[in-house]
Amino acid sequence: MGDGLISIIFKWQGQEYELQNLEGSTSVVEMKRQLQSKTKVSPGNQKLIGLKCKKPGTAVTDSTLISDLVLKKNMKLMMMGTIDEEIEKANEVPDDLPDVVDDFDIPTMDDLPADRREEFLAKIQRRVKEYKVEVFHPPEENKKLLVLDIDYTLFDHRSVAENGLELMRPYLHEFLAAAYENYNIVIWSATGMKWITAKMEELGVKNNPNYKIVAYLDSMAMITVETKKYGLIETKPLGVIWGKYPSLFSEKNSLLIDDLKRNFLMSPRNGLKIRPFARAHRNRDTDRELFNLIPFLRFLAQQEDFTTIYFDHWESYIRK
Ligand code: MG
Repeated sequence: MGDGLISIIFKWQGQEYELQNLEGSTSVVEMKRQLQSKTKVSPGNQKLIGLKCKKPGTAVTDSTLISDLVLKKNMKLMMMGTIDEEIEKANEVPDDLPDVVDDFDIPTMDDLPADRREEFLAKIQRRVKEYKVEVFHPPEENKKLLVLDIDYTLFDHRSVAENGLELMRPYLHEFLAAAYENYNIVIWSATGMKWITAKMEELGVKNNPNYKIVAYLDSMAMITVETKKYGLIETKPLGVIWGKYPSLFSEKNSLLIDDLKRNFLMSPRNGLKIRPFARAHRNRDTDRELFNLIPFLRFLAQQEDFTTIYFDHWESYIRK
């Protein structure tokens, strides 16, 4: 490798793609074109995660040159993007979002509800014991627990954009700052920890001066339950967190906000189904869901026992 030449490995959909011997005068869009030849993802649909300008406060754009980027030898970065055919397919989804396709009401079991089945509770206990949580900020005793999903809840993970910020749900930071007054905030996504970390960094959630995040939980903290009606389902049991902090959290002071009801299966009285945020380019000027949730969270923080609240009707608590 000659002086000044650099190789970068991009990970995309589980595969690694190496761009070799890049010169300092190569621009970001030229890198994207090289990646296009390897992945078939067009430059406009690519998002390169982890690139930073040497000059602080400067955003990376398509015309940024490699010589202006902070890069190390054999660096590994991530690419996000969908090949054009898949985008076309995704755009065929009707306007009304997949409430029906993607979701369902919590199934009633013929015998026992899922949240009381021994074998599922045993799985939760295993997660309590074995799942390692990296705590960024220890939970505060006088605050309740708020667990937030990422995809379609805080972020439109399907639309295409130059920059993750374009896909951020409106009022995200205002919402988190307001929530932090009364809640310990945990982020729980059904994806992997690398993605969660990358997304939270890109959205400016990590190390935000206005609020603190207790921890991220990923798909490994979830459990699979078998239901008669729907077969195998992956779900997010709050019992994992309750088991880790038995003196702090319980069903009386915990809320999980998610766009998929299946995630409430093991903690059915603590889930609030949020309207999904998708088609960011069309909806980001009008979506006020997080903004509207702020007064509800303030109301909820005053409640002794969350199981007395009907989360399906959360709006009715703040209308008057
Ligand atoms: Mg989601």
